[in-house]
Amino acid sequence: MSLTTTALFESPGGHRNLLLPDHAAGDAAVQANQHLIVHGGEGMILDPGGHKVYAKALAESLAQLGSGSLKYIFLSHQDPDIVAALNGWLLSTDAVAWAPALWLRFIPHFGIDKYVIDRLKPIPDEGMYLSLGGAELMILPAHFLHSVGNMHVYDPTSKILYSGDLGASVGSPDGCGAVTDFDAHVPSMRGFHERYMVSSKALRGWTAMVRGLDVQCIAPQHGAYFQGPERVGRFLDWLDTLEVGLDRMADCYRVPPRP
Ligand code: FE
Repeated sequence: MSLTTTALFESPGGHRNLLLPDHAAGDAAVQANQHLIVHGGEGMILDPGGHKVYAKALAESLAQLGSGSLKYIFLSHQDPDIVAALNGWLLSTDAVAWAPALWLRFIPHFGIDKYVIDRLKPIPDEGMYLSLGGAELMILPAHFLHSVGNMHVYDPTSKILYSGDLGASVGSPDGCGAVTDFDAHVPSMRGFHERYMVSSKALRGWTAMVRGLDVQCIAPQHGAYFQGPERVGRFLDWLDTLEVGLDRMADCYRVPPRP
């Protein structure tokens, strides 16, 4: 578990893709990655997380931004490990938070002050584009993977795809670093994907979309990331063979037996 910020990409022009330190390592809560993209003096924090990491993730983000400012807070979906500390991020910065339109009226239940609620904006179902300091970011549909309203971010400058819960691993030999041995890494992903992902059809649609992009790195919200075309390709191939969610559990709708 890394206790320092890791640069997944850094260009001479100042474009930076940073994986923040794992502030909650060893906690009872599921490990979660916070990513920061910086370009032209502006930043986007992705899936900033809950209250236990809020203060440290905010301080590290502001330190990395220096004289720049946080422009966007990206929320891939509505889960607490992503959204719980949103009110603090909105109160402490002038950033605009973008979340899937489907969840816009549910997220305020986490406790969003009326003074900042106008800065929570809907991402339409089909996705959209955002400009970060002049660099384009693509917001891609990832519905049912796993949330019914779910979005991912593709950064064409770094060629990094931020895949939220897709590609998540728990207990990988690589921790939250780069995957070194794909076959050894698979057991840390399989159970999570088979149960948390909704539909194999959704997986196939997503991999087809991603194969049309130039992706050099896939960075999930939990666990290790896939660096380079070989690892990215192995991951996409693995997803194309995986049966998940309803395709495994269509017969689960039964009254449970009494003990
Ligand atoms: Fe989730």
